[in-house]
Amino acid sequence: MTVSIATHRAEHSRLASVNTEDPGFGDVFSDHMFQMDYRDGAWRDPRIVPYGPFPVEPGALGLHYGQTVFEGLKAFLGDDDVIRVFRPDRNAARLAQSCQRLCIPAFDETVFLAAIDQLVDLDRAWIPRQRGRALYIRPLIVATEANLNVRPADAYRFFIMTAPVRAYFTGGAIHLKAERRYTRAAPGGMGHAKTAGNYAASLLPGSESQREGHDQVLWLDGVEHRYVEEVGQMNIFFRIGDEVVTPDLRGTILPGVTRESVLTLLEDEGLRCRQRRIGIDEIIAAHEDGSLQEAFGAGTASVIVPVGRISVDGHTLAINDARPGTLATRLYDRIVDIQRGDAPDPHGWNRLIASGPR
Ligand SMILES: *Cc1c(COP(=O)(O)O)cnc(C)c1O
Repeated sequence: MTVSIATHRAEHSRLASVNTEDPGFGDVFSDHMFQMDYRDGAWRDPRIVPYGPFPVEPGALGLHYGQTVFEGLKAFLGDDDVIRVFRPDRNAARLAQSCQRLCIPAFDETVFLAAIDQLVDLDRAWIPRQRGRALYIRPLIVATEANLNVRPADAYRFFIMTAPVRAYFTGGAIHLKAERRYTRAAPGGMGHAKTAGNYAASLLPGSESQREGHDQVLWLDGVEHRYVEEVGQMNIFFRIGDEVVTPDLRGTILPGVTRESVLTLLEDEGLRCRQRRIGIDEIIAAHEDGSLQEAFGAGTASVIVPVGRISVDGHTLAINDARPGTLATRLYDRIVDIQRGDAPDPHGWNRLIASGPR
């Protein structure tokens, strides 16, 4: 079944007025956005319209009680002029899971994929070509029904907006603070859902850690503050001896698409990666006995970010002399090569959007 999406084009493109030398990260949005609305028990009116503000009821439930979910993925324009969207099917599935946790009605995943195809194709001139840059795609669902009862809303708006973004990876390795006091997610909570509340909860710990001179927070579990969970808004990996380890998904960790891709690439290389609980004590011990070789974060925005230092209770561990490690560097290159079409895509991760002048 083909999905019918009405398109109302912008009269003028804003692209010429944009600083394409440094697009920032979400500083500027492309010409168009996708929208559809949920009312009277169904998702309705999928449409592409010019990007811009819209009226919202001050009583909208999403504004008051945080009934919102979102996603983040990227589109690339390769040297072959083909548009590649990286694993949008995984984002559709995860958005569906997040909706389920927040009592947001299910949507048709084929509409999600068709919306991205058409939106990205329409704004293809906004896709940066430089290696490391991309068109970031941000889907968002927010409860729009005006009411003050704490209950699931009966009306929602679904958006997809896009923004050209710069490379995050500057070649440096970041400094983490193992967070003993604040918690990102607790068992039974929303840690596995991509929702605004988790991000709001991270702002104060994030700014405190930055004031103390760190780059990001290394989240520990919410019960004992002892087991490693995530780094900032990324999943985390360690290379200890000849093994790679990452925390197993147990409801408090966001199931990252980059994490999943790293696991597959490691398997391709014949490297063992175990998903299990990792105590911060184990990291300290592995640093002391010299077996901790590398640590890195994985997420869509930055792809792979090497971790150079971790501060735990005021003591700082330098990992790999605080320099980016070979595995992190190689994984970054592998993923970016696949995303840009510079290397084969053996797992069929890219969704191709036909090229050609319109
Ligand atoms: C989005 C996100 C990630 C990374 O997921 P990707 O699909 O790889 O972008 C990791 N942790 C948190 C908390 C996130 O919100």
